[in-house]
Amino acid sequence: MKRIYLDYAATTPTDSEVVEAMKPFFTDIFGNPSSIHGFGQEARRAMEDAREKLALFLGAKTDEIVFTSGGTEADNAAIFGVADKLSHKGKHIITSSIEHHAVLEACKFLEKHGYKITYLPVDKTGLVDPVDVKKAISKDTILITVMHANNEIGTIEPIEEISKIACECGVYMHSDAVQTVGHIPVKVNELGVNLLSLSAHKFYGPKGVGAIYIRKGTKVSPYLYGGDQERGRRASTSNVSGIVGLGKAIELAGNRMDKEAKFQSSLRDRLIKEIPEIIDDSYLNGHSASRLPNNVNFTFAFIEGESILLNLDMMGIAASTGSACTSSLLEPSHVLLAIGLPHELAHGSLRVTFGRWTKEKHIDYLIEHLPKIVDKLRRMSPLYEGK
Ligand SMILES: *Cc1c(COP(=O)(O)O)cnc(C)c1O
Repeated sequence: MKRIYLDYAATTPTDSEVVEAMKPFFTDIFGNPSSIHGFGQEARRAMEDAREKLALFLGAKTDEIVFTSGGTEADNAAIFGVADKLSHKGKHIITSSIEHHAVLEACKFLEKHGYKITYLPVDKTGLVDPVDVKKAISKDTILITVMHANNEIGTIEPIEEISKIACECGVYMHSDAVQTVGHIPVKVNELGVNLLSLSAHKFYGPKGVGAIYIRKGTKVSPYLYGGDQERGRRASTSNVSGIVGLGKAIELAGNRMDKEAKFQSSLRDRLIKEIPEIIDDSYLNGHSASRLPNNVNFTFAFIEGESILLNLDMMGIAASTGSACTSSLLEPSHVLLAIGLPHELAHGSLRVTFGRWTKEKHIDYLIEHLPKIVDKLRRMSPLYEGK
């Protein structure tokens, strides 16, 4: 059977060029980069080369990059790092109601420890209003954390505007850019952020490695102790092969991103146009223009997203209802509820995300089978009977 992967927002396959770049670092170049002997220094050079590649992509300085175990750790490190360091100044953090759980749960934890969190609403396209950010700032606010693009509905947030407000008010700005880095330009100086999170496995690098950008002068406490790796900002022996893989992946992304984004947005726009034409009562979730090039998210009234997924899977198509982390919970997505979908509609959503190896014929195949599946499920749905 054909198998078609349309779930690139959950994770991407590692590019074979990335795998090749990583290979020597398991066996030949295995030294501990903190060791002063030749074995160690060889590994260190490779790691620093990867740091330069990432800094180049972000328009950052190399000493502003700290490698982590992924996006979740980067988000946690930013939030806990600032919360601890600036607790004497205030204990108020502003975020949005559609963040990834890596941000939301970190904020929930802080709430239990005396911090006050403002979860800003979004409009029906998923956009945070910078005016709301400004209104929410108080003298106790120490951090604003708003994602660059949402992983479920693909909406790209007005980070530059929010950063400007943060800067004017002397508040640190963090952005979870896990969905954008490697897919669209992410320049830390244009975005104006103090802190930014990213993860290699979302841009054809390996799983379990990511990074946090920390602007020079930004005060954050470390939260892993036990070594002076990453200039004392993140203890633990460095994941050299993973970091080398991240470096190769960001280099490839830098070279190919523009072309890939152009092709992917043509596939996206085709689906956005054709799905409502071939399936009644289907609604696009997210913004029509301020949107990731590889994200399509639709709600189909009267049926469950999980049933659509299972039926697509039987046809060899892998998609998602939302984020990979929550799709086993059978709870409606917090993102779809935040954009105002009623519970019954929030259950009937389908996220299709594509990437480097997606072909036009894969979209043809989806377009061929999706209407049949929706139709079959609706016939079985008691909700649909009255229609
Ligand atoms: C995938 C993802 C994360 C988590 O990254 P990991 O490297 O899997 O820990 C965080 N935020 C967003 C927006 C994501 O899409």
